[in-house]
Amino acid sequence: MNPESLPLPQRATPAPPYGDLAGHSFRLPVLPYPPEALEPYLSAVSFSFHYGKHHHAYVGNLNKMVSGTAYAALTLEDLIRKTSGMPDKTAIFNNASQVWNHTFFWHSMRPGGGGQPNDRLMAMIAAAFGSYEAFKNAFMTAAVGQFSNGGVWLVQDGDKVRIVKTSNAETPVVYGQNALLTCDLWEHAYYIDYQNRRKDYVQNYLDHLVNWDFAVARMTC
Ligand code: MN
Repeated sequence: MNPESLPLPQRATPAPPYGDLAGHSFRLPVLPYPPEALEPYLSAVSFSFHYGKHHHAYVGNLNKMVSGTAYAALTLEDLIRKTSGMPDKTAIFNNASQVWNHTFFWHSMRPGGGGQPNDRLMAMIAAAFGSYEAFKNAFMTAAVGQFSNGGVWLVQDGDKVRIVKTSNAETPVVYGQNALLTCDLWEHAYYIDYQNRRKDYVQNYLDHLVNWDFAVARMTC
C-alpha cells in the first residue's frame, strides 16, 4: 500500500476545526462529514471527544515527538513502518499509527451507510465467508471477541478479503495488507453513546454506518 494510493487527507488539509496545529508536520484531517452526521448511531458529543480530543491529541503528541527529527519529513505511512517494532520508538509508532487508524475509521463510515458492497467486493466476500450474513456474523464475532483496546478490519490480501483484529495501536499498514474498512473497538469509540454495549455499537456500524463505497475505492483488484 503506497501513500499515493490512499484516498485519505494526510497533509496540506484545511485548518482543523479543533485546536491549532498550524506549522507542524502532521495535521488533524478534516472529518469527511459534519460531527452530527452519524446521529443517532454516533453522536456529535462522541465526535467532540473521539475526534476533537483523542484524534487531535495523537496528532499533537506525534508532532511534539518528531519535531526537528528526520521523521517529520516522512509520510505518515512511512513513519509508521519505520518505527514499527522498534522498542525505543514505541511512543512515536503508537501516536502515528493512531493518527492513521482514526482517519481511516472516519472514512470507513458515512451518513446513510450500511447495505451491501458492489458486485465485485460482494463476490470476494461471498468467496471468503459464504454470504454477506456470514461475513457480518464473523465481523461481529471478531469485534466482540477482541479483548480490550484495538480494532477490527476488513483487509484485502491479494485477490482475497479477510477479517483481522488488531490490539492497541497495531495497524494493517505494517503488515502489507490493504485495509478496506475498520471499526474502532477502543472503549473511547463507543462508551459515550453505548456505555459497555460494544455489540450494539458494532451492529449499528454494520447496519447503518459502514461506507462500502470507500472500501470499494480502496480495492487494488
Ligand atoms: Mn479511537
